[in-house]
Amino acid sequence: MGSHRLPAPATDAGRAGLAALLTRPQEALLALDFDGTLAPIVADPDSARAHPGAVAALGRLAPRLGSVAIITGRPAAVAVRYGGFSGAPGLDRLVVLGHYGAERWDAATGLVRAPDPHPGVAAVRAELPGVLDKAGAWRGTWIEDKGRAVAVHTRRAEDPQAAVELLREPLAALAAHHGLVVEPGRFVLELRSPGMDKGVALAEYVRERGARTAVYGGDDLGDLAAFDAVDTLRAEGLAGLTVCSGSEEVVALAERADVVVDGPDGMVGLLDALAEEMDGARSA
Ligand SMILES: [Mg+2]
Repeated sequence: MGSHRLPAPATDAGRAGLAALLTRPQEALLALDFDGTLAPIVADPDSARAHPGAVAALGRLAPRLGSVAIITGRPAAVAVRYGGFSGAPGLDRLVVLGHYGAERWDAATGLVRAPDPHPGVAAVRAELPGVLDKAGAWRGTWIEDKGRAVAVHTRRAEDPQAAVELLREPLAALAAHHGLVVEPGRFVLELRSPGMDKGVALAEYVRERGARTAVYGGDDLGDLAAFDAVDTLRAEGLAGLTVCSGSEEVVALAERADVVVDGPDGMVGLLDALAEEMDGARSA
């Protein structure tokens, strides 16, 4: 392998996954989280945008691969907009699985497919301000209405960690009362419908596409389910590779990953290196 920028996976399974990706890219499915992985984390999630090199790197790599998907907790249409994915060169087959796979946007049609939201979301939306008041939520705590989920952020509080800890129990109780689950993230607790996670979304899309290699990259606790799915697929005989977009805020993912890169910068560098390697292999 010629490129010095390609990292060496830390595990045998990861080395096998990278080798399979490079030698049989048309059998591979690459799935990536959005925030913290392709887009730098910012204080206001509405200001998040893809890393300036992300779309070009993905667009260069995607035609060489069997499938490319974004799997995000955001609404699919929001990730498409903030990512700048619609109409991007090379991304004409991109799929964005939003709300942890509950929604799906296909670049081929430009349409979002989404079931009705869980009725508990409306109840939680109505009760949440009162619950935050009663819990004595820190100043700077705020609610993000995601349509089929509601998220409570503490990144803007003076002590984001203490602010999020304070809310864990009351929000867990509120979610449980309305049949929802809490998805913890980087200074955020999201209340959403159960039954779907990034692992389920990844495994279903791998099966749909008949992929033989599954590559997943993410940065946060919600991505652990997708890492688990890669492990399960490997146990079933597929090749797999897990990549962590590393940050100081989350360590649990780096410990599990075959490859750790330095945030979205590192992730874009990895995508470029993979495309370069495949270009080299083609012209060799
Ligand atoms: Mg993320």
